Amino acid sequence: MTTKKIAFIGLGNMGGGMAANQAKAGHAVAAFDLSQAALDRAKGAGCMPVASVAEAVKDADIVITMLPAGPHVLKVYSEQIIGAAPTSALLLDCSTIDVDTARKVAGLAKEAGYAFADAPVSGGTMAADAGTLAFMVGCDEADFARIEAALEPMSRATFRAGDHGAGQAAKICNNMILGITMLGTCEAIGLAEKLGLDPVKMFDIVSKSSGQSWSTTTYYPWPGPVPTAPSNRNYDGGFATTMMLKDLKLAQDAAAKSGASTPLGAQTEALFQMFDGMGYGGRDFSAILQMLRGKLEELPKT
Ligand code: NAD
Repeated sequence: MTTKKIAFIGLGNMGGGMAANQAKAGHAVAAFDLSQAALDRAKGAGCMPVASVAEAVKDADIVITMLPAGPHVLKVYSEQIIGAAPTSALLLDCSTIDVDTARKVAGLAKEAGYAFADAPVSGGTMAADAGTLAFMVGCDEADFARIEAALEPMSRATFRAGDHGAGQAAKICNNMILGITMLGTCEAIGLAEKLGLDPVKMFDIVSKSSGQSWSTTTYYPWPGPVPTAPSNRNYDGGFATTMMLKDLKLAQDAAAKSGASTPLGAQTEALFQMFDGMGYGGRDFSAILQMLRGKLEELPKT
């Protein structure tokens, strides 16, 4: 393997683990985040913290961004990466953002002479830490092989969904399924409890039955059966409710624009909006179980 110079921007719940895996694979990772705590964690994981985006990207072979939402991505690319990174650098945005912004950033990058891809991920923080994320890529076909190679230390599967923006389109469809299945799982646990069933026993049954999904087997919202799930740490970290809400809104916007019928997606967005509005936006999204159970007094707000 050739050692690459990687600039990694955005070292939060996801980016922290992803940058660590690039360092573990032997690459030289210049890491930047606005948070000092995130920079300190990145240092502990073998990355080299730097003081600005400009410093991170100045001689990079690959630039990877993992930022909260579209406005952050547009600002960081248009003001801090494009023009500051060498044009030979491969630019990969792994954040989940709207399709229009992804296409806009791709256009700006292409115009300036860069290869760019939207490459959002699925798998959550456990997969980010383990290097087993699934990547959904929107890019020029000719660039895909080197994009796949660049993502390899962080991935278990990489798919080219289509041209620029297609990765984000695939991601918001996937996360609409995730939001709906998580709510279904939480409602079923609440019902099981009322019917006198043990939610842990429910896990044993459902994970081997047709109600099984990622929300049950990998992210069970009741503590115990899946030790790595955020339910075991009072729903700290993981995939924040605000982030899930952002993705559900992106799906609803896309559905309205395209004329797709997504009534369950709309209901799911409304319920996560309610949970977020109650002050739980920073808790993992699976904490919505406690709202459905009427047990929010046991859950600290964020
Ligand atoms: P996070 O809030 O934990 O991390 C985002 C990081 O970006 C923060 O550390 C923040 O300080 C940093 N940041 C913000 N603006 C910046 C800037 N201008 N320059 C440098 N750093 C900046 O969020 P996360 O959970 O890691 O999610 C990141 C992205 O990944 C989001 O788009 C999210 O939708 C997506 N995603 C998250 C998960 C998950 O399970 N958490 C799963 C799949 C996809």
